[in-house]
Amino acid sequence: MNSPYTGRFEVTQTQHAQHDGLDLVGLDSKDIHSTVNGVVHYAGWENDKDHSQGFGLYVCIRCDGNYYYFGHLSKINVKTGDCVRITDIIGTEGSTGRSTGSHCHYCCRPAFMAGSAYNISDISGIPNKLGIYDDGYRPDKVTEQAHRIEIYIDGQRKYSGLLD
Ligand SMILES: [Zn+2]
Repeated sequence: MNSPYTGRFEVTQTQHAQHDGLDLVGLDSKDIHSTVNGVVHYAGWENDKDHSQGFGLYVCIRCDGNYYYFGHLSKINVKTGDCVRITDIIGTEGSTGRSTGSHCHYCCRPAFMAGSAYNISDISGIPNKLGIYDDGYRPDKVTEQAHRIEIYIDGQRKYSGLLD
C-alpha cells in the first residue's frame, strides 16, 4: 500500500461515481507525503479569490503523464516545478476548499484539472472501503535504509553498515 501518510490513516469517503478519489484522514501524523517520484505541476489555491472553492489549497504532481492530486491542505511545502520523491513531505492535511473537516482528497487523473479520474485504490493499494489502515511506512526506517551502504567485491558482500 502506498498512501500519502505515515502509519495509520482512515478512509472516510470512498471513490464512487460522484466522488473521484479517496478522502483520507491521518491518525498518526497530518503530514502529507508524495506517493510518486515526479514534478510539482501546481501548488497553490484552486481559486485564489475564493478559498472555499474546490480543492482549496492543493498540490498536483505529474508522474508518467498522470496527475496526482492532494486536496484541502492547510499548508504546502513545495512549489510549482519542484522535483519530489516518494515520501517527501509536500504539505499538511487541512480543510480548505469545499470541505467539512480535516482530510486529504487523494485522486489521479490523466490530465491537469480535466479527464475522468482513475481508480486510485487500484493505483495505491488503499482499499476503497471505509476503515482504518496502516501503510507500514515509518520515516525512521526509511532514514536507516537511506544511510545503509553495502560494498561488493567480485560479487561478494564485503561490508554492510550504516553511514554516519
Ligand atoms: Zn473528497
